[in-house]
Amino acid sequence: MPDLPLRPELVGIEPYGAPQLDVPVLLNVNENPYPPSDAVVAEVTERVAAAARGLNRYPDREFLELRAELAAYLAVESGVRLAAEQLWAANGSNEVMLHLLQAFGGPGRTALSFAPTYSMYPEYARDTHTAWVTAPRESDFSVDPAAARAAIAELAPSVVLLASPNNPSGTALGLDVVVELLDEARRVPGGCVVVVDEAYAEFRRAGTPSALTLLEAHPHLAVTRTMSKAFGMAGARLGYLAASRKLVDALRVVRLPYHLSAVSQAVARAALAHAEELMAQVGALRAERDELVVWLRERGLEVAESDANFVLFGVFPERRTLWQGLLDRGVLIREVGPPGWLRVSVGTSDETAAFKDALVEVAGL
Ligand code: PMP
Repeated sequence: MPDLPLRPELVGIEPYGAPQLDVPVLLNVNENPYPPSDAVVAEVTERVAAAARGLNRYPDREFLELRAELAAYLAVESGVRLAAEQLWAANGSNEVMLHLLQAFGGPGRTALSFAPTYSMYPEYARDTHTAWVTAPRESDFSVDPAAARAAIAELAPSVVLLASPNNPSGTALGLDVVVELLDEARRVPGGCVVVVDEAYAEFRRAGTPSALTLLEAHPHLAVTRTMSKAFGMAGARLGYLAASRKLVDALRVVRLPYHLSAVSQAVARAALAHAEELMAQVGALRAERDELVVWLRERGLEVAESDANFVLFGVFPERRTLWQGLLDRGVLIREVGPPGWLRVSVGTSDETAAFKDALVEVAGL
């Protein structure tokens, strides 16, 4: 067997991904626990059947209808009106962010983020030959604006990635912090794009604004969203972003031709036609989350503030043992975050009850 010329930085690297195990209670990847209704399934089926009749042709490369419908959804969700040309979509917001790094990262450039944060960011950087640097978050997982500005000034990154609400902590950033970072990013010689990753935005608590409201004044801002979480469409692989037309046009250059299949476009449009119904459970999930935070704190645990559909809690000297104990009881959560912390997604009330019972037993609460 001849050697394969694997890039040296990939030698010995395992593919990224949480374990996909067949257990009754899956609370490890922040999915929406509620499957689509019969009405949504019927609409998806109908639209996919229509798309199937044209599958001998490549799909619409610009998918402006889908982009217009995403804009219409955001107008309702956050009150921000955008043109279809300000939207972009791909196979999950993972791919959207890879497009961002392909366009704005690259050799000799740096991407900056604030740790602990989403574990895929360094992979986008690695795969685009972009240097990856993190500055630390505060002990409550917030971002200190002065320290963040200093990091931007010192490192002159071409991309800053800010997850808000953050994964794995659930922490949302105040818009005052985002504005400060946008301001500092303007000073970076050669330019700097600030990406606010709002994968979990629909779960934010009342009064937490979306960075979409900052788009008009900041052409170097991109706000990414996804249909994988609140929409309950993780299996459809549809992520998107909103930004200035100029920024979106740069992404159109780096995408592969026809990257978004006709089937994906049909599924996404069917889901958007039922946005309200698909997200009917978001309020219930938020309430379930807030209640879970209180429950964990009452048991003496440390719990990060959460504006997302998951909760980071700890601190356990042997988190692996605890994680395994829960798994042995049919409850899969995520071993992620700083040492000693664990992350649990908010499920149905039955799933949350199963998690609590297992935790009481394993941790002796
Ligand atoms: N951003 C964050 C912060 C996430 O947690 C996730 C999924 N775990 C994503 C982006 C990517 O989601 P998707 O590719 O399904 O849109």
